[in-house]
Amino acid sequence: MRLKVAFTAAILTLCSAVWPNIVAQETTTTTQKPTVKTQRTTLNAQQTSIKWHGHAAYTITTPRGKVLMVDPWLKNPANPEVKNGGNPLSSIQKADYILITHGHFDHVGEAVELAKKTGARLVTNFELGTNMTKILGYPKAQANLDTLMNIGGEVPIADGEVTVAMIPAIYSSSIQNPNPGPKEPELVYGGNPSGFVLLIKNGPTIYHTGDTAYYRDMELIGERYRPDVALVNIGGHFGMEPEMAAKAAAAAKAKLATPQHFATFPVITQDPKSFANALKKEGIPYLLMRPGGAITFQGKQLAKAQ
Ligand SMILES: [Zn+2]
Repeated sequence: MRLKVAFTAAILTLCSAVWPNIVAQETTTTTQKPTVKTQRTTLNAQQTSIKWHGHAAYTITTPRGKVLMVDPWLKNPANPEVKNGGNPLSSIQKADYILITHGHFDHVGEAVELAKKTGARLVTNFELGTNMTKILGYPKAQANLDTLMNIGGEVPIADGEVTVAMIPAIYSSSIQNPNPGPKEPELVYGGNPSGFVLLIKNGPTIYHTGDTAYYRDMELIGERYRPDVALVNIGGHFGMEPEMAAKAAAAAKAKLATPQHFATFPVITQDPKSFANALKKEGIPYLLMRPGGAITFQGKQLAKAQ
């Protein structure tokens, strides 16, 4: 699977000591056709994989084999499994946790169906989690207080292998009511929107921004977490425009940034080039994933991009 990994020569030089594997990957992707591998690829010990399903949806597999799905709108039109006419849920065999940044349909996605299929437990803000069980039918036994949380919290999951920090997002959050009526609202309260920082033992620290706007206090994310990779919304209109998204990655002191939440539907940014260019100015390595593609970390180092 082809994956564009773009760096300037200056950034390559600057970062080669810190990011030898990214530089190696750049060489590989430009000189030969990378091998296509599936999500079922067996991970070696200490490896973490991050698969992008398109839009804001990711599946993260930890070194111990725990599976975390973030904002699982797998039926988004950018997902190649949807483009090919298939049902993307049929390939999901395992999920231990479903993390949701906020209540909009393009983030809640097929969480309920996936939860019923896999037994995955819900990690999200208290109000959204509570209303998802009441209104959408998320299994109540899989949405308890030990994983429902709020901004500022750092909650251990996966037997302590992962710590989830809920990060502020400047945005909105509501659930589409499946049964609106004359006196029933279309949208139901979805709590405060958020992003997540995931601290994985023997793995990378990952920042998923959610749909937040840029805000200056993102510097605190950098001070406290220094994410190894940031999954940054760049689509504009409903979130950060690309140049501000690069500013967010810089404020969070991301060691690598990859764009998400773009080119899924018409009103959001279609081309990530302006994000790549703005990142260059910030001196942050850029990696463009393809929907359906994955990146693998060996410890905290990027080892492979598919
Ligand atoms: Zn969104």
